[in-house]
Amino acid sequence: MGKEWSEKQKKVQILLGKEATYKEAIKQLLELREEMFEQISQIVNGYPARAFYQMPFANVKGYHSKTLAYSIWHIFRIEDIVAHILIAGDDQIFVKGEYQKKIGSLIITTGNELQGQEIADFSQKLDIGALYEYAKEVMLSTNSILSQLEYSQMKKKYSDEDKKRLVESGCVSSAENAVWLIDYWCDKDINGLIKMPFSRHWIMHIEAMQRIKNKLCKMARKGVDPAAYCDHSCNHCFLGEWCGSCRTEYNVCSFATIFEDKRCPNAVCCIEKSIDGCYECSELENCTKGFYAPENNGAIEAKVQAMFIRKYGKEAFIEVEDKLHERFDFYKMQEILGQGIHEGLKILENELSK
Ligand code: SF4
Ligand code: SF4
Repeated sequence: MGKEWSEKQKKVQILLGKEATYKEAIKQLLELREEMFEQISQIVNGYPARAFYQMPFANVKGYHSKTLAYSIWHIFRIEDIVAHILIAGDDQIFVKGEYQKKIGSLIITTGNELQGQEIADFSQKLDIGALYEYAKEVMLSTNSILSQLEYSQMKKKYSDEDKKRLVESGCVSSAENAVWLIDYWCDKDINGLIKMPFSRHWIMHIEAMQRIKNKLCKMARKGVDPAAYCDHSCNHCFLGEWCGSCRTEYNVCSFATIFEDKRCPNAVCCIEKSIDGCYECSELENCTKGFYAPENNGAIEAKVQAMFIRKYGKEAFIEVEDKLHERFDFYKMQEILGQGIHEGLKILENELSK
């Protein structure tokens, strides 16, 4: 994803350089920003509150050493400050929308000055819903500013007066590891600011967010039964980087997330029946609930697996899944096991006897 975004971002910068392609550059820039923002939305909508202040890579070098909440805060505080104080010369969304109070932040700065545990403590206090609303409003506001800019403004430079306004806003900490931002932004023209912070900066931090959430999901799955409630194998699911299993609070299975309450009907049903998985249910054969809806891709495969577990147990299931996945990827497995209940079961049984 990050490589693809970088390619798109480089293309935007090239198109921005010529008047004839300038409008196209802005169009592609807004599309890229929308695509990247979607990643933030999926993370905010899917993960439990505590995911936003955990630091699975604490003490390493790199943007992924922060938290998910800090990353969102940092991207959009910087964008708000640059878009409004520097470029538009008007009030920040942060101020207009009274977001400090709504988000519950003790600081108004970009957060660059925070270190280690301070980042986790800061993140834990934030209202993630309000932070997301702030991020969205900043993104839309910047998009509007970008849409109104003309090619002739691309080389606009900033002066000492602009630096003074930034200092006076109090939005950049005077700490050594933060104050450099003022010179950094003011030494750029608008073309340069479009790169940093309006596109490249997003890529760097959203990539870091992806690494953080991948790690959190991996940690959540550790030691957890890899057979999901519907009897999919979490060990081989294509969503492994997004989902921490429906048996944990990192339940971000793409199926579960399509429901308003983000709860998969199969998981809910099993929990209500106090059973370990659909394989224990007497209604399994004829069930069309949730993931087993006939029109659902993978419904037959999951049911075949549930029936196999019922007959041979989970240990045997994990063993045959591991063996089959050495030869077939997730989609091929869906295809071959999805041929029919009888056919699918036969394939698993054959593998068991090898
Ligand atoms: S479909 Fe439901 S039960 Fe199956 S893996 Fe996804 S969340 Fe778990
Ligand atoms: S009724 Fe269907 S979804 Fe519910 S536990 Fe039984 S097999 Fe699973």
